[in-house]
Amino acid sequence: MHFSSGINRPPYEAQDAFLQITSGCSHGDCAFCTFYKDAPFRISPIETVEEDIKELASGWYYPFNRIYLQGADPFIAPYDYLKKVADLIHKYLPNVKSIGGYARVDNVRNKTVEQLRDLVKEGYSNFYFGNETGDDYLLERMNKGYRAEDVVRYMSMLDEAGMEYIMNFLGGLGGHNYGLSHAQKSAEVINQLHPTMVYASELTLFPDTPLSKDVKEGLFTDATEEERFVEMKEFINCLTTPTVFKAEHVTIPVPVRGRLPEDKQDMIGLLDRLIERAKAGELKHFRDNVAGL
Ligand code: SF4
Repeated sequence: MHFSSGINRPPYEAQDAFLQITSGCSHGDCAFCTFYKDAPFRISPIETVEEDIKELASGWYYPFNRIYLQGADPFIAPYDYLKKVADLIHKYLPNVKSIGGYARVDNVRNKTVEQLRDLVKEGYSNFYFGNETGDDYLLERMNKGYRAEDVVRYMSMLDEAGMEYIMNFLGGLGGHNYGLSHAQKSAEVINQLHPTMVYASELTLFPDTPLSKDVKEGLFTDATEEERFVEMKEFINCLTTPTVFKAEHVTIPVPVRGRLPEDKQDMIGLLDRLIERAKAGELKHFRDNVAGL
């Protein structure tokens, strides 16, 4: 199998098979990111992909029913290429019903709604879109490469095409004293959309990123643990679109999860208790001990 940056996947995708169709990241420039620095962006030759699919088909671990594509944003590949990949998957791995992966919001840009509908028929579903925030100031500050209106435009195309998708919220992205705007504007964007799940993780600073340099130069101050819980509470409180909320990443000290709107008050109650614990100084050193993502 060809993997240029190891295997990266969310916790819920542990049972999948993994296949690389792109290496690296088509953007590669977000201020906080440490991922995919070991491989320049490129789309894999289709012959290499076919070799890997055959290898998966001959492995002892087949059958599985979902493939989680590797690379930061394999959904950037053009429609025709994604069709070919799906055809090969269905030819050699007939049990596979679903194909997903990480994605950038602007990966949708090179496809029409009609093409997206066709990709749904091919099994493409539930990509994890790393939109991170709906706040234009933060999108620019973190060099995400798109604006909030783009998030709404491209994710609405998925809604129109009937393609299920997951959206990411990156807590703490605004740093000290900026959580409420980040929470409110992110919820405002998501409320116009229909993600199957909103998946939250928390900003954790690692060396050798532009954002860590900003911290050293006094241009960015990390949010406190208390601020992060207050921000998450505001975010959940502002979300009105029916979806599932999950914050159970290695960057989050206590998991928070539930269905919206049914479990909103329970999650808010838990966050109120966590805010009190954070105020009392508990969890203070949690983030220092997050060794990697
Ligand atoms: S799009 Fe994702 S992988 Fe690429 S630089 Fe930004 S955060 Fe990193």
